Amino acid sequence: SMFEGLSGRLSGVFDKLTRRSSLTEADVDEAMREVRVALLDADVALPVVKRFIAQVKEEAIGQQVIRSVTPGQMVVKIVHDALVAMLAGDGDAEPDPMMLGIDIAHTPPVPILMVGLQGSGKTTSSAKIGLRIKTRERKKVLLASLDVYRPAAQQQLAILGEQTGIDTLPIVVGQMPVAIAERAMKEARAGGYDVVILDTAGRLHIDEVLMAEVAAVRELVRPHETLLVTDAMTGQDAVTIASEFNEKVGITGIVLTRVDGDSRGGAALSMRAVTGVPVKLMGIGEKMEDLDAFHPQRVAGRILDMGDIVSLVEKAAQTIELEDAERMAKRMAEGKFDLEDLLAQLRQIKRMGDVKGLLGMMPGISKMQRQMAETQIDDKMIPRQEAIILSMTLKERRTPEIIKASRKKRIAAGSGTTIPEVNRLLKQHEQMATVMKRLKKLGGRKGLMNMLK
Ligand code: GDP
Repeated sequence: SMFEGLSGRLSGVFDKLTRRSSLTEADVDEAMREVRVALLDADVALPVVKRFIAQVKEEAIGQQVIRSVTPGQMVVKIVHDALVAMLAGDGDAEPDPMMLGIDIAHTPPVPILMVGLQGSGKTTSSAKIGLRIKTRERKKVLLASLDVYRPAAQQQLAILGEQTGIDTLPIVVGQMPVAIAERAMKEARAGGYDVVILDTAGRLHIDEVLMAEVAAVRELVRPHETLLVTDAMTGQDAVTIASEFNEKVGITGIVLTRVDGDSRGGAALSMRAVTGVPVKLMGIGEKMEDLDAFHPQRVAGRILDMGDIVSLVEKAAQTIELEDAERMAKRMAEGKFDLEDLLAQLRQIKRMGDVKGLLGMMPGISKMQRQMAETQIDDKMIPRQEAIILSMTLKERRTPEIIKASRKKRIAAGSGTTIPEVNRLLKQHEQMATVMKRLKKLGGRKGLMNMLK
């Protein structure tokens, strides 16, 4: 069948149901049982699975089912979007495509501390990151191994350094990690290096002594980036590993290795959810070039274990946009635009990620773009504006004229905003509604579309 695995099972769940316009709690509950199995299959840690399911359930119940998709497909889309959101983290800055989100914009030499369990791919990732910084940023990089416990660990890094043309700190037999770190920083200052990558000793399990040693190195060099390297194959342990390292050492990013393998990548979700620290990079092979920015979409697709799901979801998303656009065009043709319409539009903007995206999507909207821009739709304001509208009664949303001063005060308080903000939103709506009315005068839907072309 075309939809195996999770989406197949979900379709099964919903095939039994008669079509309805919104998702009920029973629908969602049944679907979530399947989602739970899929997440556990993908090695997402149990506490994270529970939290995720609870969150998605709340989001899904009562959601409108788009005309052209099944409720099962609708749930898949909601689950997928929630996975991407959790993996990406809301507050994360867009990663710099060159530096992949690694922060080296500080007074040189900038130390980067690499931590993780033995065999996670720490040494390999250190060299890969070094190579990236050297070639893309044209920075002078020094690699130093602090692993004095595993035989030949320092030699391994030296070999990778030779392969990539990156300098490595000369080995001094018998020197301990903190002393090596000190020497590395000294050497870096003397040699005019921009970045020093410190590859710490791997551990087989969480080991208090080694952890304390990494913490001591961190105290000494005060890195801006401390990257935890973990194998994508890591299962239920991911939560323990990530939270231990985060508590004892403090991490600023996660490097997920062996994403090229057949793991489904649940570890990424577990670690992200538990630490709140972003996954910044992924290792996608053994070669030095096999390093990539973290792609939440790709990993979410893998966790759901369905190539088809992603395209299905994308199709569903397009459908939503089309239906919204159609509805919007119809309302516009009627010259109508109330606060419910504005709310729908704000949500659409949020979903699309930017104002231009929305405007570009609406048929021939380019001529209106300027007018819209003048009304100052600002992405950062959107959640606040949404809150304002949600604090109004339905009647107020349909007929904003009835909103008096006392209600504005309540609406501002209810939405955690201010009265000037409420006024600004009402003003903005008024301007947009005027545009809509004016457009209608220019001659119905057909005339409108012609005019907008
Ligand atoms: P360390 O003990 O944490 O320093 O791990 P190493 O860097 O020595 O890596 C252990 C093994 O994993 C080596 O054979 C690497 O080539 C391999 N490795 C590291 N990263 C990746 C990756 O992203 N993909 C694949 N396929 N192999 C990797």
